[in-house]
Amino acid sequence: MFLILIFLFSSCQTVKPGENFSRIQEVAKITEIDEIFTATAETANETTYYYIEQEPEITTEPETTETKIETTVFAEKTDKSEEAFIKTLVTPVKILITPEPGSLEPPVNSVKKFPVLMYHTSSENNPGALADLYVKPSEFEKQIKYLSENNYIFCTFDDWHKLQNTEKPVFITFDDGYEENYTEIFPILKKYNAKITIFLVVNTVNIQLTEDMIREMSDSGLVKFESHTLTHVKLAEISSDDRRLTEELLNSKIKIEEITGKRVFAISYPNGYFNKKVKEKAREFYDFGISTVGGIHRTDIDNFEIRRIGVGRYDSLNDFIKFLG
Ligand SMILES: [Zn+2]
Repeated sequence: MFLILIFLFSSCQTVKPGENFSRIQEVAKITEIDEIFTATAETANETTYYYIEQEPEITTEPETTETKIETTVFAEKTDKSEEAFIKTLVTPVKILITPEPGSLEPPVNSVKKFPVLMYHTSSENNPGALADLYVKPSEFEKQIKYLSENNYIFCTFDDWHKLQNTEKPVFITFDDGYEENYTEIFPILKKYNAKITIFLVVNTVNIQLTEDMIREMSDSGLVKFESHTLTHVKLAEISSDDRRLTEELLNSKIKIEEITGKRVFAISYPNGYFNKKVKEKAREFYDFGISTVGGIHRTDIDNFEIRRIGVGRYDSLNDFIKFLG
């Protein structure tokens, strides 16, 4: 399926009217999608046919920039005639179409500084080798309570365009998508009405968090899911392999959008590894690239080098308060 998707994305530019369907932003253009897919594309010596089985479903969220166009597309590379091809269609490919990155830019009146905190998971008992990744739920609750009582505003990357007018923004982020994010963290979020971001490794879905848990958290409005790639590969190490890099970045985004029905804006680089090529490719699909470079983030730093402050199991509440700047 991934190969078909890649082929679609890479070949659509050559299809009339020259628009990549992952970039279609306006509902008004919907009729053009039909033209795109029923048109033929000449690529090298092959002819490709695309065919739309159903009318696309369009969802527009009032008061947001989000426009979602979802449809079932049957597509295959073939050298048969269009008529013969349509008779042999077998594989449905579900595609979520999201607007072009860049719609979340905040007005640049002044430089805004704020903490983006990085966690992984949570356990009260000592979990052994990777203990520092497991913040105690009781400590996490103290931290959330502190933020809440001190008028911090819990933000996700969906809120970026409102940052200039947000007095004390704080971003709480969790990497990887551990099951404890649901069992230990989610109840605390509900108690304090606190919002977090979870960067999900798609291949861990249904091994750690199940799709049902992800949907429940996403639907609550308290957890925004963003991407941490398909396989947690160090992106800088595969950056010369354009196809692999595109798969990790794009297909993880598509999968998470399919599960949650919400647009994915941000990629957290696994192990914090990125380079120029990784950033360039990430910019094609995302608005933000999240690093593990420490310190308070500032809006005059590249959106693809968002800084984060790690919070570990052994950090006291006083340490935590110092992290906030
Ligand atoms: Zn990770």
